[in-house]
Amino acid sequence: MTREDCLAFDATDPLAGHRALFDIPDGVIYLDGNSLGVLPKAVPVRLAAVVVEEWGQGLVRSWNTAGWIDLPARVGSKIAPLIGAQSDEVVACDSTSVNLFKLAAGALTMQPDRRVIVTEPGNFPSDLYILQGLADLMPGLEVRVVPRAQLIEALDETVALLLLTQVHYKTGEIHDMAALTAKAHRVGALTLWDLSHSAGAIPVDLNGSDADFAAGCGYKYLNGGPGAPAFTFVARRHQKAFRSPLTGWMGHAQPFAFDDDYQPAAGMARLLCGTPQVLGMVALDAALAVFADVDMAMIRTKSIALGDLFLRLVTARCADLIPACPLDGEKRGSQVALRHPHGYAIMQALIERGVIGDFRAPDILRFGFTPLYLGYADVWDAVDRLAQVMETEVWRESRYAAVSAVT
Ligand SMILES: *Cc1c(COP(=O)(O)O)cnc(C)c1O
Repeated sequence: MTREDCLAFDATDPLAGHRALFDIPDGVIYLDGNSLGVLPKAVPVRLAAVVVEEWGQGLVRSWNTAGWIDLPARVGSKIAPLIGAQSDEVVACDSTSVNLFKLAAGALTMQPDRRVIVTEPGNFPSDLYILQGLADLMPGLEVRVVPRAQLIEALDETVALLLLTQVHYKTGEIHDMAALTAKAHRVGALTLWDLSHSAGAIPVDLNGSDADFAAGCGYKYLNGGPGAPAFTFVARRHQKAFRSPLTGWMGHAQPFAFDDDYQPAAGMARLLCGTPQVLGMVALDAALAVFADVDMAMIRTKSIALGDLFLRLVTARCADLIPACPLDGEKRGSQVALRHPHGYAIMQALIERGVIGDFRAPDILRFGFTPLYLGYADVWDAVDRLAQVMETEVWRESRYAAVSAVT
């Protein structure tokens, strides 16, 4: 595979035109869209208009005149088709961590005779920490942390909820959502899927998998910007029975009646808690336009091809970097993980050379592939620079070892 071959792939790539929708810094090959997506060009235009006109001139009237109050539902309905949900099953609100808390606590309330939540070790920290905090609040709650290979056996009649991240944040391994959900349902357990590394990255079919609850990030593959609102899904069949533990006024049936007593709103509005983060919400809303005319199957095909190409070139040129993700593209999310004891320093040296990925302790170099703004020649160039870092051992320079607060 030569660079010319890659340029030929780019020339016939049906998604190549989407790159023009994004603002990518010159000289940067961005392989970290799984951590913070690139800025869509529509976002600053929309944000400026909202700040100057809707906020500056419209002031408080804009809650009605600019439809600010409907943003959680409107943004949710744009995310819904990307995750196999109906538009009235998704709202955008809060952070993924907060949504996991609301959904897990709400699911437990629906299963009063069961007091076990099953999850796996090495799940994203917040997923585990939120469950640990919930266990402190609810005496008798058991958080059963079970290795991946034993998950099925761990599901029994005591289990209230199975919480898993569909695409593992570090290794990119994909869980079989439909099979695990079916197994959970067979013993009467509910399922909560964290889609942080799935939404906008791989085709997700929540309803086709009969999933119960889900949450995920707005700032990764959905490109909503740093700290963008997250999204949350409750299957329509559960919406009547579901109660959020965070009973804020925005989830009330009539927030502007200013009643003393809480009454949950109908549908997904009961998942809301406080005032919507309007600026973050409009940025995410504008960002989602890049998905309007693409289908996830096309994105998936190219994502697998980019990941396969990267792995093939790395294997050929960087013998010391050991793949720590599935080699079979069908079993891998839109990311590749490589292992090296000095992964942190290697990544810093690579970033200095314009290829941005990230590092996940203790030894994983992580590279995200975002087919809407990356091409095949980008992958070739990224591996070329990585191979230079490895061959010259420039990463051994002491300045690359200084660890920043955010990795
Ligand atoms: C990124 C990520 C989160 C982040 O949650 P925040 O509340 O947005 O910080 C949660 N879970 C998983 C699996 C993630 O990958």
